[in-house]
Amino acid sequence: DITTDIIIIGAGPIGIACALECKKRNWNYLVIEKGALTNSLFNYPKNMTFFSTSEKLEIDAIPFISNNPKPNRDEALEYYRRVTTSNNLNINLYETVINIDKGSKQFHVETNKHTYTAKKVIIATGFYDIPKLLHVPGENLNKVTHYYKEAHNYVLQHVVVVGASNSAVDAALEIYRKGGYVSMVIRGESIGERVKYWVRPDIINRIEEGSIKAYFNSEIKDIREQNLTISTPEGSKVIPNDYVVALTGYLPNFELLKSCGIALSNDKMIPEYDAHTMESNIKGLYLAGVICGGTETHKWFIENSRIHAKRIAAHIESQQIFS
Ligand code: FAD
Repeated sequence: DITTDIIIIGAGPIGIACALECKKRNWNYLVIEKGALTNSLFNYPKNMTFFSTSEKLEIDAIPFISNNPKPNRDEALEYYRRVTTSNNLNINLYETVINIDKGSKQFHVETNKHTYTAKKVIIATGFYDIPKLLHVPGENLNKVTHYYKEAHNYVLQHVVVVGASNSAVDAALEIYRKGGYVSMVIRGESIGERVKYWVRPDIINRIEEGSIKAYFNSEIKDIREQNLTISTPEGSKVIPNDYVVALTGYLPNFELLKSCGIALSNDKMIPEYDAHTMESNIKGLYLAGVICGGTETHKWFIENSRIHAKRIAAHIESQQIFS
């Protein structure tokens, strides 16, 4: 086994913030990340703009300079990359944690490459890896995706965008503007209330003028190679279709949390933790970042969860176990 004092799982913005706190205190720590650095942000749409201004995405008060009021994905990647490299943070990339086991004195952390022992473990694994599925026939066809990257491949194609939140609205507008034929299939009766305030009027106007067709109170029932069936308040409709971009949200990896004994609330699967210390119901095992919201993935974001890193470090420091 490889021995370290603290293992941080996930090199998203909050995992990186935790690493900075450890580094400042000269603690022996290691971040283990299953993908690229800030893998969730890396997988965001190419032209994605944050709803937060850049200073709200800063960690440890390291300035995030952006020329725009709201930074885009590339600027955020640049920022977190520079924070990581200039601070020489200790990170293993492309290594996946598959099990966390609390032994009598230490944690045993098993990855696809090694096993580690650590006195403290911080889980900062976010929620972007597991899409909420539609659970309809045809969802496994190649033309269906749960991640949207860019519009070019959808030019002159019939595209159905499922969902009505920020991701779905951004994708629908971009594909429409690049020349795709966009229909939105929306379970509720309106565009989401949390859609960025400067984008919401744009999508509503495009729907009202008929540039984007929206089926409200509707759901996809069946997807086939050349068309799909939607149930609408006016009955079933079959529409021509080349691609489905299903952006109906994502879920944290609850199995990993459960397997290490973290208690989850019955209704929203919110993990149990002390809000002052971020320690979970398992002593020495901490939660940080958006994972803390359970199925309520809109509750935590970088802005309001970056503080978790300092809370955890303060709690560990108060125990005076690492010099
Ligand atoms: P993540 O960034 O998701 O990091 C978790 C990391 O853990 C990932 O890199 C993942 O690969 C890794 N990981 C997962 N499982 C394992 C494992 N088993 N082993 C090893 N590594 C693992 N927030 C804002 O504040 N402002 C915004 O404008 C904003 N816009 C958003 C736009 C979109 C499209 C989305 C989806 C979210 C947005 N958020 C925004 C919300 C939130 O801030 C982000 O989700 C942010 O990435 C959360 O940071 P995190 O470090 O908690 O988790």
